[in-house]
Order: sequence, then C-alpha cells, then structure tokens
Amino acid sequence: MEKELKLIHVCEVCGKTKIMTPKQAFNEGWDYPPRMGTFGVVSPRTCGDCGIVDTLWMALQSGKIKSLDDMTPEQQVVLARIQNEPASITPPED
Ligand SMILES: [Zn+2]
Repeated sequence: MEKELKLIHVCEVCGKTKIMTPKQAFNEGWDYPPRMGTFGVVSPRTCGDCGIVDTLWMALQSGKIKSLDDMTPEQQVVLARIQNEPASITPPED
C-alpha cells in the first residue's frame, strides 16, 4: 500500500500549521483538501478549533471582496497559497 502523502496544513484563521496526512487532518477536524474541498479552489482552510466565519471563502461569499485590491495582505497570502496547491503545501523532501 502506498504511503499517504503528508501535507502542510495551514489554518487561515489562527495560523496554526501542522504537517500530517489528509486522513490525520480529517480526524482532527480540519477542513482541508483533498478530503474537504479541492486543491486550487477557494474553500475554508481551517483547523479543528476554528470556524469558517473568518475565512477568505466567507469573505468572498459575503460579496465584500470584488477584486484583489479589496483583500487584506493576509487574505492575498491565503489566496496565493490556495491557488498554488498542492505545491504550496507540500513539505520539502528530507
Ligand atoms: Zn485554527
């Protein structure tokens, strides 16, 4: 059986990061692709302790963000990271 790849999980709300398999993340309540959502597509990227209220996805849903200029620097970082998945969350080889 192929070993499940580990990914860098970054909670966009509290900033917590954890390198683990998607299965482990799912079991710990993270919303993260590939189990929750799709790589490269904006949806909540949160840990088990955080809700979706403060996510970029929610901000987009609210209609307050119409262009990149409406985003905070933090939101732009989140967007760039999501758009470059899975490369952006792949740990460096050791
Ligand atoms: Zn969090």
